[in-house]
Amino acid sequence: MSVATTADGTSPLERLKAILAELADLQHAESLLDWDARVSMPSAGAEARANVSATLTRLMHERFVSDEVGELLEELGGLDDEDAVALVRVTRRAWERARRVPSGLAAELALARGIALAAWDKAKAASDFPSFAPHLERQLELKRRYLDCFPAGESSYDVLLDEYEEGMTTAEVQRVFDRLKEELVPLIEAHADTGDVVLRGPFPLAQQEAASRKILAAFGWDETSWRLDETPHPFASKPGVGDIRLTTHTEQDDLTSLFSTMHEFGHGVYEFDIDEAYARTPLGHGTSNGIHESQSRMWENLVGRSASFWRWFYPQLQPLFPTLADVDEERFVRAVSAIRPTLIRGDADEATYGLHIILRFELEQELLAGTVAVAELPEVWNARMKLYLGVDVPDDARGVLQDMHWADGLFGYFPTYQLGNVISVQIWERARADLGDLDEQFERGEFGSLREWLREHVYRHGSKYPPRELLRRVTGSELDPEPYLQYLRTKFA
Ligand code: ZN
Repeated sequence: MSVATTADGTSPLERLKAILAELADLQHAESLLDWDARVSMPSAGAEARANVSATLTRLMHERFVSDEVGELLEELGGLDDEDAVALVRVTRRAWERARRVPSGLAAELALARGIALAAWDKAKAASDFPSFAPHLERQLELKRRYLDCFPAGESSYDVLLDEYEEGMTTAEVQRVFDRLKEELVPLIEAHADTGDVVLRGPFPLAQQEAASRKILAAFGWDETSWRLDETPHPFASKPGVGDIRLTTHTEQDDLTSLFSTMHEFGHGVYEFDIDEAYARTPLGHGTSNGIHESQSRMWENLVGRSASFWRWFYPQLQPLFPTLADVDEERFVRAVSAIRPTLIRGDADEATYGLHIILRFELEQELLAGTVAVAELPEVWNARMKLYLGVDVPDDARGVLQDMHWADGLFGYFPTYQLGNVISVQIWERARADLGDLDEQFERGEFGSLREWLREHVYRHGSKYPPRELLRRVTGSELDPEPYLQYLRTKFA
């Protein structure tokens, strides 16, 4: 280390790490509050909780954007330790972004999120878009004020994308999505399955939970570190090292809970397997949303919808549900993989999913630009669902109100889901090339070698490498939609 120490014997790097550790602790507290709000808080507590979150956010923001952090970053040139260089790089990037935004606006954004999420919950339950519209207007107004903090001339949407996917641009997403649209629309038309492969419930909830837990045990669940709860919208969070919390959503009439569980496992295992040396630093979480989503989709789809996975698991699942008695394994696998255009993004199959994302990618840019007004949003949404997926949206709860993201102030976030699908197949191909016949292992219920490979090549690095560099290191290539398209063509041919 070439950096001088100060009179009290601490180096600038140690002082920076001490501040970042404090901020990581506050972030973990915020993450626990968020988990509680979504899993167990009585709904009337939403406004009070929004205030707590706004205060915490303001305190974290003030502490982080301080001149002291800036000076320490300035002093930390010429480092030769790889991890320290990465730490400074990631911290500087976040500091420069955060420093543009006044702490008051950061707190306003956090407060508005809490209030809008509670309003969205009610609006969705009643399928009442007009009651949510003012909150969406407010989110858009705040987002525009946020964007005003960044240099004019940069595409606003680039600024938002870059927050979730470092270095990604609107033009690159557009290029990938155009390519996907070109192939997906005819692929879906040719292979959409409206036949008899629908699984009919009821599937009792307790048995579904038991099945989820069996799968998690085989994937490498650790009783002392993980928990699983039930929420309307599944998610994963890590309020601290060694504390991984997944949620799933269970309905009587389908088995999507199993896929939600596998999906959230992918997010959880990525966080769980990060090198502990990065704990309480900005390197201690996944490097981007797209890479994160590539892991959830890998465990959900590439593992969880594979024939070899079900060769192992179907004999255990079938006896749990009398309604599966006359559904053989092949028919079951076809049913859980079938292309079937639906209203709900979260339930979408591997092929139609991309079109749900493309719709949101287009609409959120139009909302921010003001070319689509909030009042006309449901109408535009419904028309485009008809155009892309051929489905009629019966009500706003199953249309424009289905996702929490816009209430949560998340604009520029949706595209990372589909980038994750694309990246998942790129990484999957590399893993298969290295590991040989994974199908044979999956048929025996063995997932350890895949997980270990992912730990070694992806998970343990946390945020050390930017997403583009990680992808290059793992696969030797740039973001490329072709392997994903090839995978779909082969699967559905
Ligand atoms: Zn996910």
